[in-house]
Amino acid sequence: MSDKMALIPFRQLLHWVMEEYKHSGMVFGIPEEKFFKKSNDHYMELFGEAIATPVGPAAGPHSQLAQNIIASYMSGSRFFELKSVQIMDELEIAKPCISAEDECYNTEWSTELPIMGAFAEYVKAWFILHVIQKEFFQQTERRFMFNMSVGYDLKGIQSPKVDEFIEGLKDAAKTKIFQECQDVLREELGLLKHVDSAFVDQISPQICNSITLSTMHGCPPTEIEAIIRYLISEKKLHTFVKMNPTLLGFEYVRKTFDKMGYDYIQLKEASFTHDLQFGDGVEMLKRLKVFAADNKKDFGVKLSNTLPVRIARDELPGEEMYMSGRALYPLTINLAYKLAAEFDGELKISYSGGADAFNIERIFAAGIRPITVATTLLKPGGYQRFQQLAERLEPLLDNQESSRLDMKKLKALAESAFDDANHIKESRDMLSRKTSLKLPLLDCFIAPCEKGCPIEQDVPEYLRLVGEKRYEEAFDVIVSKNPLPFTTGTICTHTCMTKCTRLDYDESVHIRGQKLVAAEKGFAGYMQKVSKGQSQSKASVAVIGAGPAGLSAAYFLAKAGMNVTVFDKREKAGGTVEFVIPDFRISREAIKKDIELIESMGVKFKFGVNPKVSVADYKAQGFNYVVLAIGAGRTNALAIQGDMERIRGAIPFLEAFNTDRQGLNLGKRVAVVGGGNSAMDAARAALRVPGVEEVSIVYRRTKDYMPADEEELAYAQKDGVIFKELLAPVSLSGGVLKCQVMDLGPADASGRRSPVPREGIYEELPVDTVLSAIGELIDYDLLKTNGIEVGEKGKIKVNEDTLETNVENVFIGGDALVGPWTVVGAISHGTKVAKAILAKEHLEFSQEYASRISFDKEKQLLEVRTKKAVLQPVCDGEEETGRCLECNYICNICSEVCPNRANLMIPVEGEGLTNRNQILHVDGMCNECGNCETFCPYDDAPYKVKMTLYWSEKEFADSLNTGFVILKDGKEPIVKLRLKGEVIEVAFDQTGRTDAPIDGSLAAFMWTVIQQYPYLYKV
Ligand SMILES: Cc1cc2nc3c(=O)[nH]c(=O)nc-3n(C[C@H](O)[C@H](O)[C@H](O)COP(=O)(O)OP(=O)(O)OC[C@H]3O[C@@H](n4cnc5c(N)ncnc54)[C@H](O)[C@@H]3O)c2cc1C
Ligand code: SF4
Ligand code: SF4
Ligand code: SF4
Repeated sequence: MSDKMALIPFRQLLHWVMEEYKHSGMVFGIPEEKFFKKSNDHYMELFGEAIATPVGPAAGPHSQLAQNIIASYMSGSRFFELKSVQIMDELEIAKPCISAEDECYNTEWSTELPIMGAFAEYVKAWFILHVIQKEFFQQTERRFMFNMSVGYDLKGIQSPKVDEFIEGLKDAAKTKIFQECQDVLREELGLLKHVDSAFVDQISPQICNSITLSTMHGCPPTEIEAIIRYLISEKKLHTFVKMNPTLLGFEYVRKTFDKMGYDYIQLKEASFTHDLQFGDGVEMLKRLKVFAADNKKDFGVKLSNTLPVRIARDELPGEEMYMSGRALYPLTINLAYKLAAEFDGELKISYSGGADAFNIERIFAAGIRPITVATTLLKPGGYQRFQQLAERLEPLLDNQESSRLDMKKLKALAESAFDDANHIKESRDMLSRKTSLKLPLLDCFIAPCEKGCPIEQDVPEYLRLVGEKRYEEAFDVIVSKNPLPFTTGTICTHTCMTKCTRLDYDESVHIRGQKLVAAEKGFAGYMQKVSKGQSQSKASVAVIGAGPAGLSAAYFLAKAGMNVTVFDKREKAGGTVEFVIPDFRISREAIKKDIELIESMGVKFKFGVNPKVSVADYKAQGFNYVVLAIGAGRTNALAIQGDMERIRGAIPFLEAFNTDRQGLNLGKRVAVVGGGNSAMDAARAALRVPGVEEVSIVYRRTKDYMPADEEELAYAQKDGVIFKELLAPVSLSGGVLKCQVMDLGPADASGRRSPVPREGIYEELPVDTVLSAIGELIDYDLLKTNGIEVGEKGKIKVNEDTLETNVENVFIGGDALVGPWTVVGAISHGTKVAKAILAKEHLEFSQEYASRISFDKEKQLLEVRTKKAVLQPVCDGEEETGRCLECNYICNICSEVCPNRANLMIPVEGEGLTNRNQILHVDGMCNECGNCETFCPYDDAPYKVKMTLYWSEKEFADSLNTGFVILKDGKEPIVKLRLKGEVIEVAFDQTGRTDAPIDGSLAAFMWTVIQQYPYLYKV
């Protein structure tokens, strides 16, 4: 494996395009339904030429290779800012060089190819685009444009090497590559239906009449001006000059980042002071505008360059990287406004900086064009995102060259950028979407949401069923793993949503709400058919505790035919959910339905039992197994001094609130101490107690560090709860809560900044009652009297696989085992315990659906492919199910996000293979940029792990990847294969059989590539 890319010769490129389309209806992985087909005959004028839409790839990874430019074109790009070239064209770039998990960083800035290698790629792409335009869309007149980009100083730009490049793109007629493309095309006309030699002859050698100048950060203003004068007057090119966001000044950028949640981005003040200053820049532009007009050339600015920042969190190798993407948008659009205001709107602006499907219409409507993108294309959906971008602009095109900017609209856009939710960083760190799983060689598609769910709910399946209004089946799918569909549909902490692929588009699918829809609409029908488990065993189980953990264990045990009784000290089932969580969060009716489902399995209940649990007594009563699911109900005492009678535990308060809120006497002002979900519930409940006028949450860190769910925090805020951050209570006396003022100190090992007291500084709050919500505790005494061993730091000793304690046949789970947790966590423990007991009884543990569920696979395929790469805000009601991308049916993210098209989707029919296609990595096309690793949901890099095709034995020898090189093709092919580090030769007979010691699925994969995809390896 090496980061050097092998370039595809023109003839093979042409064959690749035509054969891939014929074979799979795709061109470089862009499926036909994502081809951009114009819906009107509107276009846009630029530099005296017409382009079908002003959208395209910014000079960067998406315009480096011919195949990148072709993929861009297929999905909607028509303005191509070619990747920049410079005199130093043999730089070694440390890899990976792109980190696009959220806002994007990169360390490569000009082409990785030698200059004339880059030139050849652009010429080849020029020809193929003409062919595609005619062959696929029957359009003769060119409606796309190439714009060259050069850097970085006058001397380099005037060097013979760069000059040859510039002159070549101005007129390529005499270049070898231009002639070769023409000749090959003439020879290969047989491949094409709509292209003839006359068409080939008229392909213009004048590839570019415009240029974008890229200058290094720190380039002296006189140098910038001299280069532009040279390009306009000597090279006779329409010119855009790339300006840097540093023009806004250090203070402005720092403040913007801090206010928008990007406070962790480390800037170098020197980058600002050494760069061109705003006033000088404006004066320079004014002079150049006049100069360009005198030379009858167009001149404008390209806004903006990336922003140099320090590498502080190991994002990429090295010390400095360049930032782009959604964090750059507020800067670039404000720079656009600020500069344009100096010219009263008479300024040509080419835009790039966080443009995407949500803002592109507004940018265009302000008169800014062309608009180029890079970061959005690096995210799942990849190049296919062009289609939505181009389609959004269709109705706005006016066949005009942009004459002036609409300053009113631009001003509004600039001002609104700071509050635009799509550009504000979420207040907590975004969790990585990657799972901890290892990437398999074959059949890798997974739904990350499922892996993020402690009970691995079959999310995409039930979402599709709800979408198809098959509610009863959806309910069936849910309850196969989850006996509390109403409870979890209402209050689950939905960790599934932190892994959702849509987070890389816009916002996670609102999964939980759709579970509730399935529960509400599927319950009645399901309950009519459900029957209790047939008795399969004489052994019986006592479950102590009727909360989520106990109920789940009981459900799965009874379902499998065991005799189960649930005992609880209270008078009802439901545990903390029923007795503590306030009814404004979950209705008691919903909890009741879950209990009904569990009872329907034959589970028996005994309430009001003695809380002094004796395992021996239960065993003496004849129970073979005892499951302790007693929660963690002890309240942690708040260590402050003073009027202790005015300090109450949040949990007992919430219990009392649920039974009789009228009888509570909290006074007028309540302070809740803590930052978790219990604190939010206690605060919101306190606000609903008669007589209470004001409720504050007192927390020793800032809101960003509160462990409560984002959602619960937002509800508390909406209800009017006041947040008192950086305060630690010390005493409550005479209606005054004295608090130590804290500061955030340095980050600890977990990355959290710890609170440090500000010596001698206190704040006093008027408070009548304090509610302490600083955590609940496990009842260790009860465990110890039953002989259950507790280890260091209160960790109860269990077999992690079964949750059996040191006392034989006694199990423990839920909050009782790990302390305050979640409903779904408790369900996962109940499930594990049930599975372990059933195994002891030699009974089957099954999570099969009761009904046979199937989908129209072809319809599903088309729908998934259509949804891909389309940004779509959250929908109302059940429409929301349509936002699910059904990742376990089709993933292919590594293929979508690869700028170089190096990960291919190959349908393989082979022994035991279940995925719709397999991923084939093509070594020669990969430059190890690392982007597929960022977005693959596994804890691995597809470019290192997936089955790799090598174009030569040298490439094969330079790599460690599992993969193959074809030694002999034809009817009885032979390949050299590396598998688990061993190299073997695999010879196939004419039917695809081989005696080599490899799995049939692997053999089928290689056979399919050799037989059906000759264009992939005949390079
Ligand atoms: C205020 C608050 C808000 C929460 N909000 C959420 C939320 O939004 N989403 C979420 O997923 N989770 C939430 N949780 C956490 C969630 O409720 C618990 O993690 C979950 O209920 C734990 O289930 P469990 O079965 O282990 O224990 P519990 O639900 O506590 O059930 C334990 C049961 O055992 C019984 N019991 C206890 N001791 C004995 C005894 N000695 N003898 C007999 N019976 C006994 C109790 O009566 C109770 O019925 C919240 C918790 C609190 C306190
Ligand atoms: S898009 Fe659908 S399948 Fe994919 S992670 Fe999100 S909810 Fe799950
Ligand atoms: S395969 Fe991955 S690492 Fe290689 S070029 Fe494509 S995205 Fe980059
Ligand atoms: S990103 Fe690629 S390798 Fe990773 S799971 Fe998806 S298809 Fe497989």
